[in-house]
Amino acid sequence: MARMTCPAYSSVLTINLGAIAANYRVIAGQVSPARCAAVVKADAYGLGIGKVAPVLRDAGCTSFFVAHLSEAIVLREVIGPDGDIFVLNGIDPGCEDLCAARGFVPVLNSASQVTRWRDAARAQGRALTAALQIDSGMSRLGITPGMAADLARDSDFATDVALRLLMTHLACADQPSDPTNARQRESFLSVRRLFPDMPASIANSGGAFLAPGFGLDLVRPGIALYGVAPNECTEGLRPVVRLDARILQIREIDAGTGVGYGLDYIALDRRRLATIAIGYADGWPRSLGGAGAAWFSGKRLPIVGRVSMDSLTIDISALPPEAVAEGGFVELIGPSQSLEDVARDAGTIAYEILTRLGPRHERLYVGDDHPGASSSGARP
Ligand SMILES: *Cc1c(COP(=O)(O)O)cnc(C)c1O
Repeated sequence: MARMTCPAYSSVLTINLGAIAANYRVIAGQVSPARCAAVVKADAYGLGIGKVAPVLRDAGCTSFFVAHLSEAIVLREVIGPDGDIFVLNGIDPGCEDLCAARGFVPVLNSASQVTRWRDAARAQGRALTAALQIDSGMSRLGITPGMAADLARDSDFATDVALRLLMTHLACADQPSDPTNARQRESFLSVRRLFPDMPASIANSGGAFLAPGFGLDLVRPGIALYGVAPNECTEGLRPVVRLDARILQIREIDAGTGVGYGLDYIALDRRRLATIAIGYADGWPRSLGGAGAAWFSGKRLPIVGRVSMDSLTIDISALPPEAVAEGGFVELIGPSQSLEDVARDAGTIAYEILTRLGPRHERLYVGDDHPGASSSGARP
């Protein structure tokens, strides 16, 4: 491990690009004959859009989703001229001409977005490409089924907007047995009937692993590409990330000694501790203070006391004294502790852990041809 690292960094985030490509193929196979897009918003869920998007393109992906126009601009640089780029948040006021000039496909989410996009189209004297989101029951983004029906009847709408995709988003795809999924699908399909032959999309990662009826024409997985199972129906995904942090200091403390801010932890007996170089500024949640752990050689090393900005302290009493040394690494995410484990201990979801890891880790991008890469997503 240490031989791989730049000494200027104290933690290493290893990202297996081969596993991302493999996960794309697994999902694409799962949803076929629907086409499989890729959601790469938020810097490809924190893993680096510049590295991740070309891998997905080379795996056969031709439709990409980002959240913001600024992300679309970066993505176009990264993947080159081919492939559709959909902007999930739609179009902010004043950005219509930029979005149209670059050829991005905004997802129109509200009456005002529809109106502004149509105004821009008329001003330019041409139909502008867009996707249309229907709110099928999540009450987040999208126009009502009633408004969609009005647009379907409005013959000028097709003159203004070259509609490419009708879509909706599931509120409960992480719960396959939730009846909301089928209800949203029915609501969405009733709108789709009003737009004959229009490609349609319901499914995020969770939806991709629901019954086949959720695939329709295009699925939009994000988190599953990055190795996290969206629900219990998921099979065949490989872990993508591994996170290791360096030991800054090792010490022994006597019974009664407190540790960290607020001295939240008081040792009941003599303990061996290691302070490691990861904290909440590295995206390691403060809520893991007294709750989470690091791992070494199959041993769980509990976090004692609060998580600081740049460090936290773990109890290494379970290890033989010579097992670890200052400068060595312990595992935070990897074969011993999955992203989902960390999220559960922190009281959050894997999405949040992943997207907050941030820029302070050394990033090692490995592929399947890398000597240390293995099918278990193991260490570099
Ligand atoms: C983020 C997002 C997705 C991807 O969701 P995952 O759960 O990560 O697969 C798909 N569709 C929309 C509208 C989204 O906002």
